[in-house]
Amino acid sequence: HTRKRNVKRLLDERLSKQEVALLRKIGAAGDKLGINLFVVGGFVRDLLLYRKVDDMDIVVEGDGISFAKSFALMCKGRCNSHKKFGTAVVVLPDGFKVDVASARREYYKFPAALPTVEMSSIKLDMFRRDFTINTMAIQLNQEKFGTLIDFFGAQRDLKDKTIRTIHNLSFVEDPTRVFRAIKFANRFDFTIGKLTSNLIQNAVRVDFFKNLSGLRVFSELRQILEEDDPIPAIKTLETYGLERVIHPYLAFDNQTVVLLEEVKKALAWHDLLFLDTPYLRWSIYFMVMIRLCSPKIVQEIADRLKFSPTHQRIILNDRIKAEQRLEILEANPPKSNSRLHSILKTFRTELILYMMACAKKDETRKALSLFYTKLRDIKVLIRGEHLITLGVRPGPEFKRIMSSVLKARLDHQVATLENEIDFAKGYIRQNKIVD
Ligand code: ATP
Repeated sequence: HTRKRNVKRLLDERLSKQEVALLRKIGAAGDKLGINLFVVGGFVRDLLLYRKVDDMDIVVEGDGISFAKSFALMCKGRCNSHKKFGTAVVVLPDGFKVDVASARREYYKFPAALPTVEMSSIKLDMFRRDFTINTMAIQLNQEKFGTLIDFFGAQRDLKDKTIRTIHNLSFVEDPTRVFRAIKFANRFDFTIGKLTSNLIQNAVRVDFFKNLSGLRVFSELRQILEEDDPIPAIKTLETYGLERVIHPYLAFDNQTVVLLEEVKKALAWHDLLFLDTPYLRWSIYFMVMIRLCSPKIVQEIADRLKFSPTHQRIILNDRIKAEQRLEILEANPPKSNSRLHSILKTFRTELILYMMACAKKDETRKALSLFYTKLRDIKVLIRGEHLITLGVRPGPEFKRIMSSVLKARLDHQVATLENEIDFAKGYIRQNKIVD
């Protein structure tokens, strides 16, 4: 049932001149070596969905690594290869990356229960992928440039807005695909096909996830939580009972979705003001997801998902502290900037946003926002040298004086360096720091 059509026009319409030129150059390089090659997967899917395309994944019928090496030479780029997987990355002089993989028939072992059938290398490569929508290839060889090859009904599924596996043993082969199905359904606003949905239910019932490494679960979960709006996907995870794959005791209550929506608002607020400031988006949704778990369970989750020390610190330790500080903020709204600053100064962006999402009062949200937008970065002008001139010896006193100057600055008691020096003098006198 393989369908073919030419999409040259679509490529010209949707890609920049440079990108089309690059694809043509790759095709020409393939012709030179006498091999067929294709751009495949997410690139083709996004092209047909009229979404922004990014990574170029090239599949070569033959030795991908030698192709990548000779292509890198042609373009004066670099080539990093992984012999074991037959893959390579070509980095072009302008930093653009092209991923190259080898489609080789002998590499694929069919699941025992599937009939072994004769397929071309490219078809086999597509057959090993997760969902039909990811199985299209566009040939790049000059003679056939722009030929879209659709082996498994991907165009139909794109039209029907449906996520479907290619065969019924797909989740047996790789259970992480369950998470990927939910990610794609959410991202494109597609439905998971009836049979595929049944296969997911079966995977949960039979617990295909038993032997799955926590690292792989985490990697997929994290990708879901990094999507623009992960909330529908989190709901779908729960509908299938997949939160229990993360931990059997992980559970949501009717507040969970409300708080997730609050996280979304807090992140939108942040991203509007601080475009391009990186932070761990996923971690804030994640903290809401685990908030009903006891510390012991959270520790077990962290162990299972193989959290890095930074992740552990945020999710285990700082989150608890943040919850305590939030209570203080709500029960006892600070009356001065310096007090607000001292309550919040140790927290990273992720925790401030988490507190913002969990806050019950508007007043608290305003205080958090004031801290984050205005107070966080305030620094004193006075330096150690100034204190030495005032007769203070370097040591613990330095820190105390500095922090009292900062306090004065936060509360608008000082404006200039002179003000700060005067303030420091007064402080030194009052506390009898210098004899
Ligand atoms: P994204 O836009 O999220 O990067 P993508 O489709 O490019 O989407 P990747 O995770 O980069 O996704 O994977 C690249 C390709 O490799 C996909 O198109 C998919 O077909 C295939 N793939 C990735 N993970 C799996 C998997 N677990 N099982 C089968 N195929 C997979």
